[in-house]
Amino acid sequence: MMYEAEYADLHEAVLKNNYPNLSRRELLTAVAGAGGAMLFGPAWLNAAADGLGPRVAQVVSETIGIDMHNHVHPAGTESHPQQGPPRRQEEQQQAPALSMAEEIKQSGLTAVCASYELDFAPNNKPGDARDNFLRWLTAIDAQLEKDHMRRALNLKDLQTAHDHGQPTIVQSVEGAMFIEGRLERVEEAYKRGVRHLQLLHQQDDMVSPLGDVITSAPHLGGLTAMGAEVVKECNRLGIVVDLAHARPETVLGALKVATQPVIVSHTGLDSRTGGNPRMAAMMKPHLISKERAKVVADAGGVIGVWTKLADSPKEFAENIKAMVDAVGIDHVGIGTDTDLLSPRVGQGTNRAWAALTGGFFYAVVDEMLLQGFTPDEIGKVGGGNFCRVFGKVTAGHA
Ligand SMILES: [Zn+2]
Repeated sequence: MMYEAEYADLHEAVLKNNYPNLSRRELLTAVAGAGGAMLFGPAWLNAAADGLGPRVAQVVSETIGIDMHNHVHPAGTESHPQQGPPRRQEEQQQAPALSMAEEIKQSGLTAVCASYELDFAPNNKPGDARDNFLRWLTAIDAQLEKDHMRRALNLKDLQTAHDHGQPTIVQSVEGAMFIEGRLERVEEAYKRGVRHLQLLHQQDDMVSPLGDVITSAPHLGGLTAMGAEVVKECNRLGIVVDLAHARPETVLGALKVATQPVIVSHTGLDSRTGGNPRMAAMMKPHLISKERAKVVADAGGVIGVWTKLADSPKEFAENIKAMVDAVGIDHVGIGTDTDLLSPRVGQGTNRAWAALTGGFFYAVVDEMLLQGFTPDEIGKVGGGNFCRVFGKVTAGHA
């Protein structure tokens, strides 16, 4: 296996606490207390409608449920501007006008990290990626205003959103190609509400690439000098660094310069062979080894389990279980990579599971309870762990 020795060295440093600024548990208590006194509101009604028990409703109500990687998009825009599958005509006709707030609410989650595949938008010359990015943020601004929503900028915002039953988003982007060698653009994004930056997706930044990605042959030597600057700038500003789609050597480089925990928002263990075989083969390069996942975890981070490797809530919960066994209950989260969370809406082109008849998070909680997870464990995986990292990274920032 590649980079085994380097990962082992880094792991040793992490375990010896040479890794800077780590404090794995400091926010666990605060997050665990949040929302404990919630009354059964819409969560109860939705769960009842789905034929799920009050226990599911209770766990959903008490959890700040978060999808660490979601492509929810403003009405009238596509999440995959160029390469996305066209919607079937009947889906378009049936599609009710549902707000972003309603979609998140019906899923049972409190928040999604709202991401955008920047390299899938037309990108012909330097400047295009930044223009596309700013246009996307403006579209989100408009949708949020229409839905009377705000972006979550810190942990308190997530707690408030949860306590008031008012959904929110953490603004993210998939592939930070808008930077184009200009570090000040990270702060520009921060000022527009970005608090979660997935450095890489599939294409390189046209001006100054940040690191090697898993879907291309390595040619940059892992994390580039610019990539390292961006990681440091995110740490300085209070933006969560997401290393999904990064090659092992890129992750290694980022962990070496990071002063805050990082996340890998959507992946799975490379030892998992279950689920849809076609999907599993296609996704193989995206998967993470137990050893690498453990380094991210022991540096305080969180690994998001992808719904794309599971054909049902049952398989999804099994994949969560495998990840928990590998890295521990405090380091696992959910990263769906879907664009719609509630199949009840009936217009999803990229929903988690076609057979799902109710809200996504209700089904996941129901299945996790069935498989023996405690409510406390579900709270951690369902969003508490992300909250810990988000709280730590954004602490002391506006
Ligand atoms: Zn992705």
